[in-house]
Amino acid sequence: MENKVLQELQAEFPHVIRLGEPMQDHTSFRLGGPAAAMAIPNSIKQLQDILVFCRAHKLPIFIMGNGSNLLVRDGGIRAVVIKIAGAMSTVTLTEAGMEAEAGISLSALAHTAVEAGLGGLEFAAGIPGTLGGAVVMNAGAYGGEMKDVVDFVLALDYEGREHRFNANEMNFGYRQSAIQGKELTVVKVGLRLPEQDPAVSRALISDYNARRRAKQPLHLPSAGSVFKRPPGHYAGQLIEEAGLKGKRIGGAQVSPMHAGFIVNVGNATASDVEALIRHVQETVAAKFGVRLETEVRIVGESIRPVAGETRTADEHI
Ligand SMILES: Cc1cc2nc3c(=O)[nH]c(=O)nc-3n(C[C@H](O)[C@H](O)[C@H](O)COP(=O)(O)OP(=O)(O)OC[C@H]3O[C@@H](n4cnc5c(N)ncnc54)[C@H](O)[C@@H]3O)c2cc1C
Repeated sequence: MENKVLQELQAEFPHVIRLGEPMQDHTSFRLGGPAAAMAIPNSIKQLQDILVFCRAHKLPIFIMGNGSNLLVRDGGIRAVVIKIAGAMSTVTLTEAGMEAEAGISLSALAHTAVEAGLGGLEFAAGIPGTLGGAVVMNAGAYGGEMKDVVDFVLALDYEGREHRFNANEMNFGYRQSAIQGKELTVVKVGLRLPEQDPAVSRALISDYNARRRAKQPLHLPSAGSVFKRPPGHYAGQLIEEAGLKGKRIGGAQVSPMHAGFIVNVGNATASDVEALIRHVQETVAAKFGVRLETEVRIVGESIRPVAGETRTADEHI
């Protein structure tokens, strides 16, 4: 990627583009090398213009939300990382419930719903991502998932064209959606939410939050549960029974509080985390014959190739 083109991009969108932006400032793991460039668009129109510019100049694109499910490798991301978080967060009430832009935090969205007397999003109040990221991941907790509340999704392709998906076209599954691995950016989501007494919603949210605080190492940087739940098992339980609770490689540790989490206990590198992920996968496979798949999305470039490294579909950046 030529520096000259990145500088043109910055000149075209002043105050919106940062060059060589450290990804550790944008991920809940607090690690990861630099993005070649980062754009934080203020509006859908500006996002469209940035996508069109990148396409016209053949700049690779990587879309992120709040970085709470991302492990960015130490060599960083050789692409224009477009962060849909912070900005692009307007919400409007509709007959069915609400329509919101993808950059709003799930927590803010859930609390807005409560204040409007709408239920259904209580499960999402403690998930630290954006609405867009939650739709892509079909995020869920405490028996709820995005699939239960999404009515429709508006997404832009990398040419800036709009596509609308009704809920049944989203192919939602466990931590799965039709958007994953595609050249699409979620920009707006319609939510179908039933009326609910705010006092009931508030009580549910505070119960879920208390359960989270009691079970999860929220005081340390992480990306939540690293592995998907394998059919018929719980990842955390298998990892604990394999004797790996507290196992440490460099600054990465299998949380002594919740074995499904890997935490950054200080200056962890992405290669520490990846090495620990592999160690957990190999130990659990050898002991129980169960292959643990990562829920966390691993992206970017290694500084040194890691032995046995494999990449999945969306890790081409
Ligand atoms: C402490 C902690 C607790 C957690 N608890 C839960 C939990 O209970 N349940 C759960 O499901 N998850 C949980 N997570 C994981 C994470 O919060 C969710 O996966 C969340 O939905 C990710 O949203 P994000 O905005 O941070 O997305 P990111 O991590 O930035 O991105 C995740 C994926 O979505 C893509 N993406 C993001 N935004 C867009 C967009 N607008 N358009 C297109 N693609 C996009 C990215 O390319 C990437 O592939 C937890 C994480 C932490 C750190």
